[in-house]
Amino acid sequence: MRDPGDFHLDLPAGACPAPFSLPEKIHRRAWAAARQCTAPRPDDPALSIRAVVIHATAGSSTDGAVSVMEEARASFHWLVPDENEHAHGSFVWASAPEARACWHVRNSCFHRHVCHGARRINDWSLGVEIVNAQSGGDAFSDWQVRITAEIVRYAWAKYPNLAHVVSHARLDPKRRTDPGPHFPWEAFKRLTFKDVR
Ligand SMILES: [Zn+2]
Repeated sequence: MRDPGDFHLDLPAGACPAPFSLPEKIHRRAWAAARQCTAPRPDDPALSIRAVVIHATAGSSTDGAVSVMEEARASFHWLVPDENEHAHGSFVWASAPEARACWHVRNSCFHRHVCHGARRINDWSLGVEIVNAQSGGDAFSDWQVRITAEIVRYAWAKYPNLAHVVSHARLDPKRRTDPGPHFPWEAFKRLTFKDVR
């Protein structure tokens, strides 16, 4: 079992997948809530997005994760549904506009190997939440792992300065363990780099 605090991929400069459109649908409740739980990015997102942060909800449903946004406690750009939900196997939920900064990492957090230790990671990152209880009995499905890699590949093709993919645990090791030790990081890494190098 791996320590989720070690989950870290650096994306090679000068190589990326060909652009493609992600199988995503706007989650209308999340999108409405995003008005009150996201912020403008200080710089042009096309050039300033440098990281993708992988989270797991520690909950059991898309609805539960969306209610966190409705209560303005946190926000994220995509939500990967769980096995027992109708979207599973078909599409991910777009929960907030990529052009907005979501609230998924504390502003004081940093990692010295992620953008040279820059803080305010939300300003220059995208957040992916995978619906998973993060307890022993709830494995990540193959599709959840594959589609999470597809989200990264989509962003990698779109944002020329995207350089890092890291777990929330990597950035906030004292408070967070997500996506947890059961997330198959090596398989996720292989899927992310498929056909790229
Ligand atoms: Zn998290």
